[in-house]
Amino acid sequence: MKQQTVYSLGRALRAGEISCLALTEECLSRIKKEGGTQGAFLSVLEEEALSAARAFDACPDYEKWSSALAGIPVAVKDNLMLKGAVCTCGSRMLAGFVAPYDATAVEKLKRAGAILVGKTNMDEFGMGSTGEHSAYGAACNPLDHSRVAGGSSSGSAAAVAGGSVPAALGSDTGGSVRLPVAYCGIVGMRPTYGAVSRYGLTAFCSSMDTVGPITKTVRDNALVYAAIVGIDPNDATGLSFDFSVPNVRHPIRIGVIEELMTDGISEEVRHAVQQASERFASLGMLVESVSIPETKGSLSAYYLISSAEASSNLARFDGVRYGHRAKDCADLGALYEKSKSEGFGSEVKRRIMLGNYVLKKENKEAYYERSLLVKRILRDAFARVFESYDVLLCPTAPDIAPRMGAIQTPEQMYAIDLCTVPMSLAGLPALSLPAGVTKDGMPIGIQLTGKAFSEGLLYALGILYEGGGTDDAI
Ligand code: GLN
Repeated sequence: MKQQTVYSLGRALRAGEISCLALTEECLSRIKKEGGTQGAFLSVLEEEALSAARAFDACPDYEKWSSALAGIPVAVKDNLMLKGAVCTCGSRMLAGFVAPYDATAVEKLKRAGAILVGKTNMDEFGMGSTGEHSAYGAACNPLDHSRVAGGSSSGSAAAVAGGSVPAALGSDTGGSVRLPVAYCGIVGMRPTYGAVSRYGLTAFCSSMDTVGPITKTVRDNALVYAAIVGIDPNDATGLSFDFSVPNVRHPIRIGVIEELMTDGISEEVRHAVQQASERFASLGMLVESVSIPETKGSLSAYYLISSAEASSNLARFDGVRYGHRAKDCADLGALYEKSKSEGFGSEVKRRIMLGNYVLKKENKEAYYERSLLVKRILRDAFARVFESYDVLLCPTAPDIAPRMGAIQTPEQMYAIDLCTVPMSLAGLPALSLPAGVTKDGMPIGIQLTGKAFSEGLLYALGILYEGGGTDDAI
């Protein structure tokens, strides 16, 4: 199970070599065994998963599901609603909050026949790069327990890399799928903004939030993506497109982003990306360096825009409608204040304060509107570069997974997102896949970015990179 993929488990299920119940039981026992030490799960849906697995075995109608996920155990990040399950978003604010409905991505997994086994740990409301800002403790990196799994989809990455489940869903606003998969040596996709419904995903920064798959291989990732992609009447930002993974016949033009290969990038990471470029060249691709100086303003623009939106989105957690309600408050003002002070952690409070500051009448133009301008300039720059290149290559993270507690200041944590936020601002799809390990055996991730809705091409390249063919239909 530990090394097994969605693809191989699906084949074994169809061939009758393993039952869905046996597979689910194995996952649950791994979660129990490893969950304690790794902190990957916030809740386990044991009863529900076992009864879904029994129902599956009683009637394994693969034609009805027509999905590679039929009978496959999957975990879901704890900011996605799963009806009847607790949805904490990694926050004390939502401790014990039971989701009243399924997120569209979750509903699609169910319709594909997947077995939902649990909700995974995360930085509170998705705000963090290391997983250490969860109110329930950080998830460990399964490859080295003294290191972080990465954030904010820390538990989903740790659960897949540690072998508890073959696939999981994460969410990616500024890198939260891509960073933890890079740190854990696995694969993650940030979809094009609007390709996967955000309905039922707790909003952090609505203009950049996405839901994406986390798996061990690129092929598996495409299989999960195929199950969750699609337009949804409940998400007004959805756009429809036909997803398929093409056969790459002509040389793809790959540009290596110069600005994301220099300042702040470790020597070993740079070397890994260079080696990946050589590998793509040896696979027949045209690889060269490309300069996108506009990426330089990305970090500041991302943190100002995302904090502004977060301060507005999180205003709903006021102790009145739902969420933590403080006791012994003299009036409504005190109730708001105390509930928020007690319910939110330090990073979330910092973002709310920053967001309110940049949205203040006297500051809006200097900070918020200027950041929107940086975003527009960056989008135009990517559009210009994509006239000459099909795909862009860069590191996913500047360095390997930090040790627990090593990231001391917010600035240090924000700097980790250097290579992931440009794509978020531009609404572009980006695939992170493993590209070797350091001397210490820690994985390094590389990132492939394409035009909007080029997920199929990114997967095709990723599958070639990991040594497979794209002939089997996805
Ligand atoms: N690390 C980034 C942040 O803290 C990204 C988080 C995310 O993508 N949800 O905002």
